[in-house]
Amino acid sequence: MSYNILVLDEGTTSTRAILFASDGVFVASAQKELTQRYPQAGWVEHDAGEIWDKTLECALEVIPKAGGAAMIAAIGITNQRETVVAWDKATGEPLTTAIVWQDRRTEPFCAELRQAGKEAEVQAATGLLLDPYFSGTKMRWMLDNVPEVKAAAQAGTLAFGTVESWLVYKLTGDAKHITDASNASRTLLMGLEDAQFSDDLCALFGVPRSALPTVTDMSGALAETEVSLFGREIPITGLVGDQQAATVGQACLAPGETKATYGTGAFVLTNQGSTVPRSQNRLLGTVLTQIAGERTYAIEGSVFVAGSLVQWLRDSLGIVEVASQTEELARSIPSSGGVTIVPALAGLGAPHWRAEATGVISGLTFASGKAELARAALEAMAHQTHDLAEAFAADGTGWETLRIDGGMAANDWMAQDLADMLGIRVERPEFVETTALGAAMLAAAGAGLYPDLARAAAKMRGTLKTFQPAMSDDVRLERLARWKKALAAA
Ligand code: ADP
Repeated sequence: MSYNILVLDEGTTSTRAILFASDGVFVASAQKELTQRYPQAGWVEHDAGEIWDKTLECALEVIPKAGGAAMIAAIGITNQRETVVAWDKATGEPLTTAIVWQDRRTEPFCAELRQAGKEAEVQAATGLLLDPYFSGTKMRWMLDNVPEVKAAAQAGTLAFGTVESWLVYKLTGDAKHITDASNASRTLLMGLEDAQFSDDLCALFGVPRSALPTVTDMSGALAETEVSLFGREIPITGLVGDQQAATVGQACLAPGETKATYGTGAFVLTNQGSTVPRSQNRLLGTVLTQIAGERTYAIEGSVFVAGSLVQWLRDSLGIVEVASQTEELARSIPSSGGVTIVPALAGLGAPHWRAEATGVISGLTFASGKAELARAALEAMAHQTHDLAEAFAADGTGWETLRIDGGMAANDWMAQDLADMLGIRVERPEFVETTALGAAMLAAAGAGLYPDLARAAAKMRGTLKTFQPAMSDDVRLERLARWKKALAAA
């Protein structure tokens, strides 16, 4: 008999249920879009009830394709990180809309804490920076601004959780309030050393510790679904935030191994082994895996604009009709003709962290056309990644190979340019859904289908395509000089 693993992949724009065979082969999937709410500039919300309903619908749609619930060996969940759900344990219902990771409403509180000189101690304890991106200030905002949340806190029935925590609560029949260590490490409330919520941090952010879930391993017998949902109790044996999932899915399980996901933004994580990361270069430290209480960590750098620059070329400038056309345009010319784009359309993330920066297109002449702009947009991905590579190297983690994934990684020209500009080999799996695959690996190992995660990853990771660096030093140095000049103007 061949058992399947059911992955619930909770993205920002959609929820999906994906079936994998135990050897990692994709079997089937179902997907539903999630409503995005933008009630004010800088605010982004989801309906937690909708997330749960659509997750359940997707799961019920694919389970028959496995041959029924009896054929599902385990469930793994991976999710958009940092997004906060608040619900009432008395009713099992959400108390307010979920505040999504992209939401900037808590910047004034973050600024207040930065001005009070708290960033160094927060970074030392959590590996994170004081930015609205992370969950803690979003929880505080709900306590201050939503009467229902405040009342539930006073009544002792308030539950906070990230998306995987909310789904486990619902999947267990409103029973289990847990979160995995990778998701907990994005809240600003968890100490990186011991992976427990800290009383000091809860006090600093004004979040009652009693409302927080219990931090668990990411793989193992974590919970079981309530029998009425699928007709049988299915073990939940993998829980993991999306970027950590992609890192596992790319089998970056040894120190130094690095993956970069090029989606809307770009997220780069390097495995740090069991050493707690201490970045001197404004990179983040985060939990990569926790299994049987043993942790590995990662250094993380996020770039805000990657594929969204291509979307902008498509939707605002009309230079391409579909994103993949950027590849033929880039190939149609020998160089960008000196055109350089700094994609600071939403400020600059790691390693620059300049929220106020705006975008730049430099080097325009009458010879500059669509192809030059498309090529410059793709070149910007390698330039941004190069800056991250320098910051990682300065933190003592140089890269030997870069393993890429995400929608934009399908672009062969960009993949080759990354290899050329970084001067290292770039690998891309044939199966690009590495986030879901990583959750499947953790769930498979957690269900005992493999003796450990390394063997699950070795068996379940598919074939790779490799790109070797071939650019001359002269061209590379000219590109970097142009980039540095344009960056200074951003
Ligand atoms: P997310 O998970 O963040 O929604 P995806 O991983 O699905 O994003 O990637 C989609 C992004 O990748 C879009 O912004 C799109 O513009 C870009 N993209 C997709 N295919 C290509 C391609 N062949 N070349 C360049 N960009 C692409």
